[in-house]
Amino acid sequence: MAKAMLIDLTRCIGCRACQAACKQWNDLPAEQTRNNGSYENPPRRSAKTWTTVTFHEITQPPSEAGEEEGFAWVFAKRQCMHCEHPACASACIVGALHKTPDGPVLYDDKKCMGCRYCMIACPYGVPTFEWHKAVPYIRKCTMCADRIALGMEPACAKACPTDAIQFGEREALIVEGRKRIKASPAKYVDHIYGEKEAGGADMLYLSSVPFNELGFPELGEERLDRYAGLAMLAVPPAIVGVTALMAGTYWIIKRREQMMAQAAAEGPEAVESPEEEVA
Ligand code: SF4
Ligand code: SF4
Ligand code: SF4
Repeated sequence: MAKAMLIDLTRCIGCRACQAACKQWNDLPAEQTRNNGSYENPPRRSAKTWTTVTFHEITQPPSEAGEEEGFAWVFAKRQCMHCEHPACASACIVGALHKTPDGPVLYDDKKCMGCRYCMIACPYGVPTFEWHKAVPYIRKCTMCADRIALGMEPACAKACPTDAIQFGEREALIVEGRKRIKASPAKYVDHIYGEKEAGGADMLYLSSVPFNELGFPELGEERLDRYAGLAMLAVPPAIVGVTALMAGTYWIIKRREQMMAQAAAEGPEAVESPEEEVA
């Protein structure tokens, strides 16, 4: 059964323990943060920060009981949605991204040629590129597939002090989400974000305010993976040719660098000829 996570934003207190746990488990470095007036820290996802917690000041209308207009904070943890039909995977012409039966959408840096089509195809703007590295790769949340394989829950879910992140089987979490909405209709909007968006995702959300007010894209129920593949076909052949040439050159350079590093570590006999590998 596919695994998923139910993220209940009404329980999130914006502590960012999930963000710290993600960095700790995945050995991601800290990032310099700026006082940019937003409260977000770090403010956006990057190759070094796979999950963020965004802060939203929501205006509350005057109540029928006579309370004046006020405001409330809503916090939103964001990361890869682990789509049921990932557009990133269908846009990748070398199969470097794939959906696993357990749920996580995973990336194989050995296959990646650096074209970054996945970044363009993802409707959530998730994949990030290691711009700071000489041999860059794509980076994103893995749903802690390594922990799941060991029978553990994802690091962010384990760290959350308010149980805002629940890990389990997708169908059971959808039932749980509906149960919470039915039990407290005044507390939740009647929508489980991720249940149907773009054909569904394994990251499911509950919220007290409409998701578009929190920056979640308004997507239909139609799968986007088909269009990602078609969009690639629509790219003019000349551009594909130049892109393929650039990507091929990039891939060869990158493989050379990888093999030089391997040779330094294990000796030159451990490394095959790059030309043989390309052929
Ligand atoms: S959110 Fe984006 S990167 Fe993640 S699985 Fe979906 S399409 Fe791929
Ligand atoms: S599931 Fe794992 S990789 Fe993804 S945000 Fe949570 S801790 Fe990070
Ligand atoms: S650890 Fe839980 S409560 Fe804290 S920011 Fe993350 S989701 Fe919200």
